[in-house]
Amino acid sequence: MSIIDERPGLDRRLDPLARALGARLIGPGDPTWDAARAAWHLGADQHPLAVVVPDGVEEARLVLEVARDAGARVSVQPSGHGAGASLEGTILVRPSAFDELAVDADAGTLRLGSALRWQDALAALAGTGRIAPAGSSGVVTPAGYLLNGGHSWFSRTLGAGARSLRAVELLTADGELRRIDDASDPEAAWAIRGAGGALGIVTALELDLAAETELVGGSIVLGWDDAPAVLALLAELAETAPPELEVHAAIMRMPDAPMLPPELRGARFVELQSVYRGSAEAAEPWFARLRAAGTVQRESLRPFGIEALASIAAEPSDPSPGDGFGTFARDLSPATAARLFGVFDDPASAGLVALTFRLLGGALASGDGLPSIVGAVEEPVIVGTLGFGPPDLVEPGFAALRAALGDADSGRAFATFLREPSYAGAYDAESLARARAVKASLDPEGRFVGSRAYG
Ligand SMILES: Cc1cc2nc3c(=O)[nH]c(=O)nc-3n(C[C@H](O)[C@H](O)[C@H](O)COP(=O)(O)OP(=O)(O)OC[C@H]3O[C@@H](n4cnc5c(N)ncnc54)[C@H](O)[C@@H]3O)c2cc1C
Repeated sequence: MSIIDERPGLDRRLDPLARALGARLIGPGDPTWDAARAAWHLGADQHPLAVVVPDGVEEARLVLEVARDAGARVSVQPSGHGAGASLEGTILVRPSAFDELAVDADAGTLRLGSALRWQDALAALAGTGRIAPAGSSGVVTPAGYLLNGGHSWFSRTLGAGARSLRAVELLTADGELRRIDDASDPEAAWAIRGAGGALGIVTALELDLAAETELVGGSIVLGWDDAPAVLALLAELAETAPPELEVHAAIMRMPDAPMLPPELRGARFVELQSVYRGSAEAAEPWFARLRAAGTVQRESLRPFGIEALASIAAEPSDPSPGDGFGTFARDLSPATAARLFGVFDDPASAGLVALTFRLLGGALASGDGLPSIVGAVEEPVIVGTLGFGPPDLVEPGFAALRAALGDADSGRAFATFLREPSYAGAYDAESLARARAVKASLDPEGRFVGSRAYG
């Protein structure tokens, strides 16, 4: 029996790839198919032509060659946190082999392979006196996050995450491994810092690190009835807080689900999470204001090392069916806040478990950092939500929240917070046209698809 016969269910055009990659190509007839095609985002039921795990650049080139001959598309998905785009007719690449990691604390740079997760990068920074622009989850990859903008705990001092992305190594559809930075190709570097999810296979990234020896943060849990006071405080902090302070607020309504710990089942509360870049002494007056917004039920604020950054938000690390979005809000006036809270508290929004807010401003507003399609973000806050359940349960709540935002809804967000599978939700028409031109020059046949389309 030939190898071809041993791969039932595989599109015959991929036979050359199956022969070369062996077990590193998983097709629909293979026993591990469902695990191989699964995404971290459990709501995505993706059916690619095959899943491949190339062992390095040479095999990745072969994937591109076979894809071209087969007329197939290619999508890179390290984890599937951002999964959702159609993978019909697509070869799904898991970049697991690209796992290098090197910190140069003196130069303030981090070089990392695209397979790595934020948790890996943060662990490597322990004790170096350097910080990187990670967001709230340790299991998201820096690649998928930075190529799509990325809002970090430090965006208010460093700008959007992508604005620290010095260079990427990109294997383009023609098989060339290119270094993209401001010297080699400034236009592509600008685009890849926020609209970089379908230009090629990113194998490695180089990041600028910031110097910081002291971090303080954690969470404060307040009562449900404290929500109006918390929203008023957030609106005030958006105007007055120093950029060293980042605050996330979540109004939580937990489902009465058996898999939750008993104390969380059906619980309703407000959680403030905060990170301050600096000493505990400098942070304390601001943390005191967070506490004063209500009745403190629990608190975990403490000095911590960069390696523990992902523990501050305690995001789920296991695959999840949660669905949600974020949008830049133009204001958080008392009227807007009251409308949002009213909608969230309404039984029609029963599928929603969280109404969330994250401070913007500071370096985001001034557009600091390396040149990027993300541009300046002038809105003071991101309003978001998270829901669990089938579309008919969560969609009415999503729509009602957007309606409640009304004129305060900018209709724009970091690409990492978008629900719709298009960069059009993140960038204006002129920026999108520039990104499309970069896409056309690096990927003229449109071989690559990512979690977001370019228009
Ligand atoms: C619990 C949780 C918390 C989050 N917190 C934040 C946050 O604080 N701030 C924030 O900005 N976002 C946040 N996000 C969103 C997250 O950053 C995005 O969904 C991100 O795109 C996920 O990247 P990934 O590589 O892990 O996911 P994937 O779905 O595997 O990849 C997403 C997309 O990135 C592109 N991509 C990834 N790797 C490569 C590569 N090697 N080459 C080419 N393209 C590639 C592809 O287009 C791919 O479709 C969070 C998500 C979750 C689930």
